[in-house]
Amino acid sequence: MELAVWTYEGPPHVGAMRIATAMKGVHYVLHAPQGDTYADLLFTMIERRAARPPVTYTTFQARDLGGDTAELFMEAARDAYARFAPQAMLVGASCTAELIQDDPGGLARTLGLPVPVVPLELPSYQKKENWGAAETFYRLVRAFAQPRAARAEGTAPRANILGPTALGFRHRDDIIEVKRLLALLGVEVNVVAPEGATPADLARLTEADFNVVLYPETAGVAAAFLQRQFGMPMTRIVPIGVGTTRDFLREVATLAGVDAGRVEEACRLPWYSRSVDSTYLTGKRVFIFGDATHAIAAARVAAEELGFAVVGLGTYSREFAREVREAAKAHGIEALITDDYLKVEEAIATLRPELVLGTQMERHIAKRLGIPCAVISAPVHVQDFPARHSPQMGFEGANVLFDTWVHPLMMGLEEHLLGMFREDFEFSDGAAPSHLGHGPKAEAPPEPVASGPATWAAEAESELKKIPFFVRGKARRNTEKFAAERGLATITLETLYDAKAHFSR
Ligand code: SF4
Repeated sequence: MELAVWTYEGPPHVGAMRIATAMKGVHYVLHAPQGDTYADLLFTMIERRAARPPVTYTTFQARDLGGDTAELFMEAARDAYARFAPQAMLVGASCTAELIQDDPGGLARTLGLPVPVVPLELPSYQKKENWGAAETFYRLVRAFAQPRAARAEGTAPRANILGPTALGFRHRDDIIEVKRLLALLGVEVNVVAPEGATPADLARLTEADFNVVLYPETAGVAAAFLQRQFGMPMTRIVPIGVGTTRDFLREVATLAGVDAGRVEEACRLPWYSRSVDSTYLTGKRVFIFGDATHAIAAARVAAEELGFAVVGLGTYSREFAREVREAAKAHGIEALITDDYLKVEEAIATLRPELVLGTQMERHIAKRLGIPCAVISAPVHVQDFPARHSPQMGFEGANVLFDTWVHPLMMGLEEHLLGMFREDFEFSDGAAPSHLGHGPKAEAPPEPVASGPATWAAEAESELKKIPFFVRGKARRNTEKFAAERGLATITLETLYDAKAHFSR
C-alpha cells in the first residue's frame, strides 16, 4: 500500500486508451467496473476531442460478480464489433477486472470475430500509463507490420514519425513542426503513428527507411522492435530546443543520407536570450521535473540557451531513470527519480529555486511556495491543450519555450523596483508579477529555518530583510554556510558583510 493523493500517471489501461483514441479503425473493449468510464472525460474535456474515445466498457457491478462476468465481456465485445465495425480490436482488463481473471484475450478468441484481435496484458499494480501506451503500441505494430517491400532506386528518403498519442502534451503541434523539419531535409513522411494511423497504415510502416521517435516513453519499444525485426534505424535525439533541433537535423540527415548543411531556419530564441533585456535571466536557479524526455530537454535549453543554473532535475518516468541520471550528472547534480509528489515538494522547498519547470503538480507546489512556474510536461490540465499553435519541438517550439518560461518571472525592471521600493504596496515583498493577474497577493516564500548551530542576531536579521526576497534565501544560506565553516555561534552584522564579501569574490 502507498498513500497517494496525486499521481503523475494513470493506470496502464489509460495508456492503452490513449493509443486506441489516437488511431482510426481500432476499438478497445475494456473489462472494467462501473465508473471506469470517467477516463472518457480525459479525452473529451481535457484534450477537448469532439468524439467519444473508441472504448466499450463492460461496466460490471457488485451484483454481477456472483454471476458470469466472462459472459458479460463476450457480450460487450460482440456488440462493440456489430456497432463500430472496427478494422482491429484491442481487448484487455482494468485494475479491478485484472483481479477477477476472466482472460479477455482468450474469451475474444472464442468469439471468432472477423477482424484481428490484439489482447493486452497490462499489469495494473506494477506499471503505469506511459508503459501501458508503449506496450499497446508495440503490440499493435507487432501484429500489423509487414516485412519490408523492395524500394525503387532513386526515390526520396522516407521516415515514419512515431510516438504522438491522444492526451499527449503538445503532440498535435509537435507533429506539424517535425514534419516541417523533415521537409527541410527533403525527407518524406511515410506514416505518423499512432496519432491518425489505421491498422493498414501500421502494415506499411516498413516502407519507410527509418523511424523518427518523438516520444521514447510511448514509441521506444515499438521502434526498437522495428529495428530488431526489420532493420529500421531510429532517431535518438528529440528535437526540443535550438541546439537539440540542430543535432536532430544532423542525425536525420545521416540516416537519410542527405546533406544537413543547407538547413537554416529562423528561430528567435537565440537572439531573444542574447538580447540585453535577458541579461537578468543569467544564473536564475531553476528546478526541473517531468517525464524523462521533456525534463532532459528542458535542462539543456535552460542551461545552454537561456543561461539558467539547473539546481534540480528529476522525473517520474522510472523506465528512463538512467538517462535522467546521466543528464543530471552533466549539470553537477543528482537526479530525483520519484513518483511521490511530496518528495518533489520537499526538494523544491529545500533548493528554493527562482523558477520551477514541471507538470501540473509542480504548478500547485510552486504556487504554494510562491515560486514562478511554467509547465513543460504531462500530466497537464485543460489549459495546456491550447487552441493556438504551441509546439515544444523544432524552431517554433523553441520560440514557444522562450515565451512560456520567461513569462512567469519578474521582468528585469520589476525586480529593480522591488528592490528599491520594498515597502510600497504594489512592489512589496512577495507581490506577484504584475502581468500575472490581480488575485490575492501571493504568500512570501517561507524563510528556511536556520540550520546548524549559528543563530541570527536581531540586527543581522533586519539587515537580511533589506535584501530583495528573491535572493534573500540564497543570501541566508550562504551566510549560514559561511558561519558554519568558521564555527561561529552567532551571525552578526559583521558576519553578514564578511559572507557577502567572501561569496562575491
Ligand atoms: S479499476 Fe482501476 S482505474 Fe478503474 S476505478 Fe478501479 S482503480 Fe480506478
